[in-house]
Amino acid sequence: MDEQPKDAQAERAAMEQLQAQLKSIFKNLPHEVPLILFTQPGKNDLFSAACRFLVRGVREATPKVTLREYDLKHPMAKKMGVNRAPTLLLDPERYKVRWLGAPIGEEARTFVEAVLMMGNRSSGLSQESLKVLKNMSSPREVKIFVSPSCPYCPQQAVNALKAAVERPDLISLEIIDIQANPDLAEQYSAQSVPQTYANDVLVAQGAQAEELFLLSLDKMEQQTIFIPDSDAQEVEADLVIIGGGPAGLTAGIYAARSGLISVIIERGALGGQVATTPVVENYPGLTQVGGKTLVDLMATHALQYANIFQGEEVMDIRPGDPITVLTSRRRFLAKAVLLATGASYRHLGAPGESRLSGHGVSYCSTCDGPLFKGKKVIIAGGGNSAVTEALHLHNIGVQVTIVHRRDSLRAQEHLTKNISANKIPVVFDTEIKEIRGKDRVEDVLLYNVKTKETKPMKVDGVFVAIGYTPAVDLAKKLGIELTPEGYIKRDSRHRTNIPGIYSAGDVEGGYKQIVTATGQGAEAALAIFEDLVNPYWKSKHATA
Ligand code: NAP
Repeated sequence: MDEQPKDAQAERAAMEQLQAQLKSIFKNLPHEVPLILFTQPGKNDLFSAACRFLVRGVREATPKVTLREYDLKHPMAKKMGVNRAPTLLLDPERYKVRWLGAPIGEEARTFVEAVLMMGNRSSGLSQESLKVLKNMSSPREVKIFVSPSCPYCPQQAVNALKAAVERPDLISLEIIDIQANPDLAEQYSAQSVPQTYANDVLVAQGAQAEELFLLSLDKMEQQTIFIPDSDAQEVEADLVIIGGGPAGLTAGIYAARSGLISVIIERGALGGQVATTPVVENYPGLTQVGGKTLVDLMATHALQYANIFQGEEVMDIRPGDPITVLTSRRRFLAKAVLLATGASYRHLGAPGESRLSGHGVSYCSTCDGPLFKGKKVIIAGGGNSAVTEALHLHNIGVQVTIVHRRDSLRAQEHLTKNISANKIPVVFDTEIKEIRGKDRVEDVLLYNVKTKETKPMKVDGVFVAIGYTPAVDLAKKLGIELTPEGYIKRDSRHRTNIPGIYSAGDVEGGYKQIVTATGQGAEAALAIFEDLVNPYWKSKHATA
């Protein structure tokens, strides 16, 4: 026998095996899955042929799959809003799922999953994902760009399929093969796959875990950490940590490793100020790391040890045994409470600042910097934050000038050298007297403290980076003593004047470095552990 028939034989055997596999996968499929394929000779013929071949193959494997085929010129195409070939609609009466291109290569897996989900009328979403989906109230038009040669794409496409099968009222899905639709890939800059858009906003790059995909869809931006939601009305713990910045997250790790049941409560985003720091260059072991990346690493680590309750605000703390912590959602009973509430951006207090906040006035260069690309902004401040953020803005193409009220910067030398090296202008001895503009920042009034001159400067934005105000509202409410500078006053073991209540991190003042906050979090957790297990420390503290 020559080679050709051998190959043909092997091919036939492989096809038969594949058919047998498909038959067994689709056996007992309870519901019908009607498919409609639109093609047009001369348009993507290869993809159309491949799509037809695959779909017919599946139809032969199960009588539950039915196929209708139309030419793109048929009125049905207009009726269904189809204008590309090939386009495959999957059970269009029930779901809003369409494939632009052919489900071939790696994507064949996704297609098989789609038929299974639709044939079973079950998405198979996890309980956690269902909770996220339940919160979503407005529709999402999802587009996932995939390629037949991408091994990661099916994961993301299946995530989206599950969502579209679970909530057809809310989620519509287009799986777009970039090879068959290069013009769409170009239009959406989808050069790397998988790439996910919701309502034309990029919400994910790469494949995600199912829960993270849904969370990204809900929040309309890429999410990197999924924290399971809890329905418990009352939670008992040894230690309740308030604040999910570096101090709180580290305390969670240390306390739990000491054997304390610990929970962390965070009202906003995890990571505190670090999450919006463009680049961190002085965290030991990591020469250069994005602030958000560092936070993700810390939070993922902390989640291995402590439950994190994110998005709920502590309303009240009632000392006692146990201490009661009331949040916007539930009640916590604890033996000890650690205040790691950090600090928030300090405001200039200049006229126009609050009115134009969000309209050119910003406190976060990582968040808002890209909006000012090619535009002119000033940064107010002369410390590490101002200098780090000025460098970040400069690097992303913003024309930035630092305006500082003194005659020299107080940032670390390494950073100030970078300012000169990058020729970033610094206006010294100057205060911002007023931020002006009708609907958005148009200019600032600058006052030179030496010459006493006031002059306007045209700018598109003002970034304020003048330090932080400690978040001591809860501490004040509890009657915790503060330092003259307004930070929490504590002893060498992080105890406040109220038994059972401790503090750590920026809320205590000091150097306010990430590494000092994590150090203080660890110290406080260890001190709390000792206080809880060691009567000597406990009695000393109670009488302190
Ligand atoms: P900071 O070190 O307290 O510096 C605040 C700056 O803002 C100072 O230059 C201050 O001027 C100026 N300022 C304060 N109030 C002002 C006002 N009302 N009007 C005009 N200017 C005003 O604060 P930061 O730079 O935000 O840093 C906070 C902490 O985080 C620091 O401990 C810092 O080291 C740390 N951090 C570290 C890094 C890093 O290591 N890469 C990066 C960011 C932050 P005066 O000098 O006149 O007081």
